[in-house]
Amino acid sequence: MILILLGAPGTGKGTQAKLISEVFKIPTISTGEMLRTAIEEKTPLGSRAKSFMDKGELVPDAVMIDLISERLKRNDCGNGFILDGFPRTVAQAKALDLLLQSSNHKIDYAIGLDLAEKKIIERLTSRRLCKECRKDYNMITDPPPKNNRCPVCGGEIIQRSDDTAETISKRLSVYEEKTKPLKQYYLDNRKLKLFDADGTVEEISKNILKFLSNK
Ligand code: AMP
Repeated sequence: MILILLGAPGTGKGTQAKLISEVFKIPTISTGEMLRTAIEEKTPLGSRAKSFMDKGELVPDAVMIDLISERLKRNDCGNGFILDGFPRTVAQAKALDLLLQSSNHKIDYAIGLDLAEKKIIERLTSRRLCKECRKDYNMITDPPPKNNRCPVCGGEIIQRSDDTAETISKRLSVYEEKTKPLKQYYLDNRKLKLFDADGTVEEISKNILKFLSNK
């Protein structure tokens, strides 16, 4: 199964992707995580991407298309995969279609997550994550311990450098302009299935898994 998770930052794409991944035993490929790892490892890709990410802008299409086409060649993608954060532009979506076509594959569904902007901002500003194991926390709904250490691995709990008020507002306007048109793209291709992302993680995943299990 090949799935795309589509939605504004903060709608829970990463969280839902991980849950689908566990049930269907296919990897989640998060381009944001790949870029953050590249930054931590101080690779040339990391230093190129950082300036765009810190400003809340998109990394250029050509860089992202190269990155994803290399990643999809790996063996773990043989039974399918879930894309979280890619495509983010119509050019990326078209490139992905061509890439999949060349190996006789196609996207099964684009899972769209819908959430009001006020809630998105609330979620993004309260989001935290473990620097080591990348487990998510939320200062309101799932706060980390007072010592700021992850109970799972002991790692330091941090805030993403692009989860600041100024960068969030830029990321949301970039989403409106560049990524939202993808909904129409996948609607036209009859791939889009929209879900209300205003609920608990469990409620939303129940709805998505029910849909996918009936297919
Ligand atoms: P995310 O973790 O998905 O919120 O991504 C964090 C940041 O990484 C984004 O704000 C972009 O700067 C960059 N990024 C991730 N995926 C892409 C993509 N498919 N195209 C362009 N930039 C991306």
